[in-house]
Amino acid sequence: MNYMIEIFEVPDENAMRDLGASLSARWRAGDLVLLMGDLGAGKTTFVRGVLNGLGHIEPVRSPTFNILQIFETNPPVLHADLYRLTSSAGIGLEDYLETHLCLIEWPERAPELAAAGNAISVEIEFTETGRSVRVTQPDQEIQ
Ligand code: ADP
Ligand code: MG
Repeated sequence: MNYMIEIFEVPDENAMRDLGASLSARWRAGDLVLLMGDLGAGKTTFVRGVLNGLGHIEPVRSPTFNILQIFETNPPVLHADLYRLTSSAGIGLEDYLETHLCLIEWPERAPELAAAGNAISVEIEFTETGRSVRVTQPDQEIQ
């Protein structure tokens, strides 16, 4: 499989939201987006941007305590934060993988997700001036 890799320099929180909003336009139900980066990197901020881009205007809280949150946007979104887990077994993620755009923080906690070959990854790193975001997306196969 071929991958498209893009790197974005993101100076502040608003720019992180704007990036999420802009990338939301290319994602569809059934896409799996793995959000990687240390605590405070901006994963949840990015998700807020994606949801804003899909027209969701209500506040978005970090799902650390309830693990999964569903948003009835178009496409519908599943937002999960696996930080507190040691496995994703039993939380019901698989019920959403086909029907929702799934945005997963701390996918490293669920190796079966991290190993999904067709997942999109969003890797956020701290830089001296803000954040650097690397987006790796498998090329769409020609149908
Ligand atoms: P995570 O979900 O990765 O733990 P959050 O999105 O909850 O991170 O928090 C990121 C924090 O970093 C916010 O308080 C935000 O205001 C701050 N911040 C500072 N600079 C940036 C940036 N360039 N992009 C995203 N967030 C930033
Ligand atoms: Mg978070």
